[in-house]
Parts: sequence; C-alpha cells; structure tokens
Amino acid sequence: MDAGLGRTVGVDQRDSLAQTAAEQTRLFGQQRFAAEDHRSQRGPALAAAVVEHALAPLLAGEDAFATEVLWHRMYHATRDFGRKGTVIAAISAVDMALWDLVGKAYGQPVHRLLGGAFRSRVEAYATGFYRVRGQGEAMRLADEAATHRKNGFRAMKVKLGFGLEDDLAVMRAVRDALAGEPVTLMIDGNHAYGVADAIRLGRALEDAGLRWYEEPVVPERPEDYRAVRAALDIPIAGGENEYTLYGFRQLLAQDALDIAQPDLCCCGGFTAAKHIVALAHAQGVQVNPHVWGSAIGQAASLQWIASIPVAHHALFALEPVFEYDTSSHPFRSALVKEPVLQQGGWIELPRRPGIGVEVNRDVIEAYAV
Ligand code: CA
Repeated sequence: MDAGLGRTVGVDQRDSLAQTAAEQTRLFGQQRFAAEDHRSQRGPALAAAVVEHALAPLLAGEDAFATEVLWHRMYHATRDFGRKGTVIAAISAVDMALWDLVGKAYGQPVHRLLGGAFRSRVEAYATGFYRVRGQGEAMRLADEAATHRKNGFRAMKVKLGFGLEDDLAVMRAVRDALAGEPVTLMIDGNHAYGVADAIRLGRALEDAGLRWYEEPVVPERPEDYRAVRAALDIPIAGGENEYTLYGFRQLLAQDALDIAQPDLCCCGGFTAAKHIVALAHAQGVQVNPHVWGSAIGQAASLQWIASIPVAHHALFALEPVFEYDTSSHPFRSALVKEPVLQQGGWIELPRRPGIGVEVNRDVIEAYAV
C-alpha cells in the first residue's frame, strides 16, 4: 500500500509482474541503474539486453557529463534496429542514469540542470479505475472515485475503452459520486476504438468538462487523432507510445494533439524530453508527461515536470499535472528510500541532488530475474 493513500486498488498482476523483470546493469564501473520498460512483461528483459549488448560498449570510459553527445551516439548506433520501442526505452534508462549521475556529482537536482523549476510543487491526479472483471463495475469505480476525493485529489483520470455502453455507465456513476465536488476528470481510451466510436464517446461526454481525452485511437495513425480532434471540443492527449523528437514530429505535424504525453522512461530520457518539449511548444502544444513506472521513473518524471513551461499563457494557466498511480504496487514504492508521495493532492518538488532518490539495492536484488 502506498503510504500517501488511505486505500489502494488491488491489481493482481500488472506492475508486479512487469517490474519483477526490472534489470540492472553496470556503467562506468560504478554507476548502476534500473532499466525499466512497463510496456510489457518482457520489455524490461529486452531493454536490459539492449543496454548490455548495444549501449554499454558505446559508453564505457566516456564522459558521463556529455549527456547530449552520448544520447546521439546511442541513438545513431542503434538506428537500424531501434528508433522506437524497447531500444529507446533502454536509451531512456541510460540517459536518466546519466542525468542523475551528473546531478549528484554537482550536488544539484536534475530540474536545475534542465533550466530550473517553474513550480515548487506539482498537482497530482489520480490514475486508477482499473477493471477486475472488465465490464459492469460502474458502482465499484464510483466508490473508487469517492475514495480518491477523500484522499485529496482534485483531478482523476478514468480508464475507458470497455465498450461505449459500459464506458458511459461508468462515467455516469463516477460523475454522480463526485457531484458537487471540485474535481476535474480526464478520460483515457487506451486506444480502444476506431474514429467513429472514439468520436461517439467524446460527444457523449462533452458536457463533463473533461480536462483531456487521452489515447482515443491507435498511435500508428495520427490522422485518426486529427479526425477525432476536429470533431470534438475536448482537448485530445496522447503520446505515451511515441518516441523521440522524430516520433513526436510526426504526431505534431498532423495537428493531432492538444496535449503531448511523452513518458520519460520510454521517449528517450531527459535528453529526448528536452527536444520534445521544444518542438511541442513551437507547435503550441502543452507537454504533460505520462507517468506509470517505478519509483525511479516517478522521481525522474517529477524533476522533469517541474521544468516544463506552460504553452498557453492565461492569467491562471493550466499547469502540468503529475499522473499518480493509485493501484497497489509494493515494488514501486519500496524501490527507493524517498518515494514520490502526494499529500492533499500535491507533490512537493525535492531539492535533493540528481533525481532525488537513493535506490534500495536489496529490493532490486530481491526482485531481479
Ligand atoms: Ca494512458
């Protein structure tokens, strides 16, 4: 159970299975890090193999402070079999370890290396609403929404994509449970639908004041995102399954997104994240990262989110928010001595060096496969 929550939702397999495969390796003789990829149960083992066989030979003996140089070296050396997916997740892990190392060497948090923090605390939104049976769980999910509110959250994201009828039943129940509460909702379609159903779902929820509609359609077809976006008045979000500056260029070139959601642990690490933020802002698109990993990924993401500027300068601009996974996950929080915890719906930005955590090595040993 996460210490920051009164109650967590049991998930019997997802993270524990994925994260038991979190790998460690050795760089520069001293620096060990966890290579994580939460896309599939086998992703971490593949990423670890990429680190060991493709990346480590490029990095041994090199200047760890040369993060940009080393990122390009890794990317170009793996282009013919990389560019997306597990190879980029492996590069992400190495890049994040390098930034952490540089921060610790300077005694500075990574957000300072990235150019400073726009905010000293970040609002957390609750991610959860996972299904046990798949359909017919509206009342249980409504109860979960009320629990998140009791735990201080003012924003939450509901997992949809279980059939339009069931999705709408869930949303009715959740909205009823939160009636009168100052809560903003987002929805996540998990690329479950084609364009027509994705639009139908959005239209049926246009009065819900949704902050965003995430992954309405599959990531391979940015033109489908564009069609959904053109049909709805809800901001469209996506990008957790996209990689590097080059992948986001294709998404953004289609005017497919209002909100880009790179995942630091997948998109190429801090170095690629800087590229993507610059591109997105030039396009008028807000970056609001996807966060769904271990305590290491959460801590690193918090450093990054603090450094992301707002794209739209209203007097009371919408600041990026932190995706706070509320499901049960003992490995996630045990992995570090200083897990990211929300209090009253907010997360304070730590000032500790690097990404601000020390890894519990014995926990890695215990879960390593
Ligand atoms: Ca998502």
